[in-house]
Amino acid sequence: MNREYYGKIIFELSKPGRRGASIPKNGCPDAMTAIPEALKREAEPELPEVDELSVVRHYTNMSNNNFGVDTGFYPLGSCTMKYNPKINEEMSSLAGFSGIHPYQPAETVQGALEAYWTLQTMLSEIGGMYEFTLNPFAGAHGELTGLMIIRAYHESRGDTKRTTVIVPDSAHGTNPASAAVAGLKVVEVKSLPDGTIDVDALRPLLDDTVAAVMMTNPNTAGIFESRVKEIADMVHAAGGLMYYDGANLNPMLGIARPGDMGFDVMHINLHKTFSTPHGGGGPGSGPVGVRKGLEQFLPNPRVVKNPDGTFSLECGDDACGNVSATLGNFGVELRALAYILSLGKSGLAHVGPLATLNANYIKQSLRDLYLLPIDRVCKHEFVFDGLKDKSTGVTTLNVAKRLLDYGFHAPTIYFPLLFHESLMIEPTETESKETLDEFIDVMKKIAVEAKENPDSVKSAPHSTPISRPDDTQAALNPVVTFKDLKSTK
Ligand SMILES: *Cc1c(COP(=O)(O)O)cnc(C)c1O
Repeated sequence: MNREYYGKIIFELSKPGRRGASIPKNGCPDAMTAIPEALKREAEPELPEVDELSVVRHYTNMSNNNFGVDTGFYPLGSCTMKYNPKINEEMSSLAGFSGIHPYQPAETVQGALEAYWTLQTMLSEIGGMYEFTLNPFAGAHGELTGLMIIRAYHESRGDTKRTTVIVPDSAHGTNPASAAVAGLKVVEVKSLPDGTIDVDALRPLLDDTVAAVMMTNPNTAGIFESRVKEIADMVHAAGGLMYYDGANLNPMLGIARPGDMGFDVMHINLHKTFSTPHGGGGPGSGPVGVRKGLEQFLPNPRVVKNPDGTFSLECGDDACGNVSATLGNFGVELRALAYILSLGKSGLAHVGPLATLNANYIKQSLRDLYLLPIDRVCKHEFVFDGLKDKSTGVTTLNVAKRLLDYGFHAPTIYFPLLFHESLMIEPTETESKETLDEFIDVMKKIAVEAKENPDSVKSAPHSTPISRPDDTQAALNPVVTFKDLKSTK
């Protein structure tokens, strides 16, 4: 690590007794004696002792070392790193929302329940579903919830041998993982060279043990699965259900609805499509929608609107269980509601087409220099299989690292696994043509560098605080605390 660049770590600035705030004397001398001995800490916490200015500089310097959608273009495929309008932040932090407690009685939080119910209703309209729960905390959590619903459905009919889930080989890694966590067996179905599901390979897999087929549409190669209706009919005829991984819903907004494609259960990533900043590991939200006839299996509690216009929480016996202690990440739900209300139906209908246009614009502009394994109109994202000229030895990893020198976040690399040198680009609808053109110019420049001066690309990045960390060591032995850092010195 380049310590000069970072400056001192806040623990190194610590001076015994230095304070950034003065705390009034404890006015309740009995308070300490009221805490049972066994619960008291044995030693003082090891906190840095610093003045207020050092704290401000510490956080400001850390944020300057960070990269986000608010600092630059972030074309990370499959992640939908779009701009999140600040008005949505403001709405979610209104005191009436941020000051309530999740366990307050329903009659004291009617406004919050109405917000929840309104979003659930709007997502149902957007997804073509009957009802949504907003309780799951992430996309993967939504997948698990959806599979629990599917299992509860089959079990309610006494159809207990349905224990397998079919997942395409192009699927996001969370799909097979969620199926495994739900106690279901994963069977993989191959993709065709164009990235879509091989329907002929799927057909013989559809026996009476299939609980569901999980699909992402458009798939992770950015291609719309045009045979989806036919697939849904096949799966339904075999007694299985269709699960829609809606993390890629962005390009479908205003254009097509999973419910109309034949899906029975779906999740949406609010933190991708509906305006919550993400990339740092949370908070997220993965609402799950179901078609009519499956709503009784949604997790407890459900928010219902009563005939008199009030809202209450309901728990049912058929529910697949509880997936969260409360009603999910409420702040994320509010951002999504504010986003949908501020765009309106006609505004939302622009999202999908613009995201699709931007992706195709970049793809067509770079196809002479980068290898395009699937030469079709894409949706929100597409995949290059590295540089076209393979003689330079410059890999996708090298291109991604070199992009950092030019101030861009790298695209997703080495995913999907369909190609050796995957470079997956998703520009989103929120970027201007000028930004797309700058990115295209830089990608062209890197292709030229790869030919004329390959070592400069292979040794990139040259301008970042850290150049090339050891990926394996970083994963196996991450240094995440000051204590760990000291012990590695
Ligand atoms: C991001 C993503 C997921 C997982 O969502 P998390 O919120 O990260 O759990 C699942 N499927 C696809 C296609 C995704 O892009």
